[in-house]
Amino acid sequence: MGRFDGRVAIVSGAGQGIGAGIAARLASEGAAVGVLDLNADAASSSAEAITLAGGTAVGIGADVTSEEGVNAAVDQVVRELGGLDIVVNNAGITRDNMLFKMSVEDFDLVLAVHLRGTFLLTKAAQRHLVEQRYGRIVNLSSRSALGNRGQANYASAKAGVIAFTATAALELGPFGITVNAVAPGYIATDMTAATARRLGMDPEEHQKLAAEQIPVRRVGTPDDIAAVVAFFASEEAGYVSGQTLHVNGGQR
Ligand code: NAD
Repeated sequence: MGRFDGRVAIVSGAGQGIGAGIAARLASEGAAVGVLDLNADAASSSAEAITLAGGTAVGIGADVTSEEGVNAAVDQVVRELGGLDIVVNNAGITRDNMLFKMSVEDFDLVLAVHLRGTFLLTKAAQRHLVEQRYGRIVNLSSRSALGNRGQANYASAKAGVIAFTATAALELGPFGITVNAVAPGYIATDMTAATARRLGMDPEEHQKLAAEQIPVRRVGTPDDIAAVVAFFASEEAGYVSGQTLHVNGGQR
């Protein structure tokens, strides 16, 4: 018996990194998973890996900033996997730069993927969740929401995700739907590797330096985040809503 037997999930940005880890974790505990990613090939490979491991998944190429794309993706999941219970808003990008050099396009794009994307997927999904009076929504924020040099766009978007989470929890709670956020610290993925390279460092060297500043003395993995998302997505977390949990190895 898995915690998610009979449940259907959709995870955005699940073609790689944290999203792929979340999709695999939910599937390993019984959920059928819609693996959504802008990169359709990555979405397919991620879904295939789940299927090969004995789970159920479908890969979907979609852009979370497109209302049409997101609506079609949700419809596909409901049609092909038989419903929708769990939504994980994980898709994300960075376009880091110091404020004075940051282009308007890079500001808008980062806000669009994280914030508009979270809004659109939540809005498309809530129709089904409200109707069945059950749902679990988990959004990816970040430690950067507290402010981070070179990330005026990303930090603003991730702070917005926290406010969106709190508001959606108020509105959707009466329908049996919880909405929570996870705010990861340093998790070793392509995203942090790109940050390392931008700073002229080798990703492994960057991770080593970061680990020295983290109380548990290591950087995080997608599995560290997937475990927390799985808790928020579980039935037993039904009295937890509107929360943001920082998962960062104990950093203040
Ligand atoms: P990643 O770059 O490895 O993966 C992000 C995925 O999102 C990619 O597969 C990408 O194709 C997809 N994506 C990007 N734009 C999209 C769009 N418009 N529509 C659909 N999919 C899109 O990043 P990651 O490190 O796995 O990050 C996952 C989430 O966790 C992001 O929201 C990120 O901001 C957040 N986060 C990451 C860290 C970290 O240290 N890695 C820390 C805090 C928060």
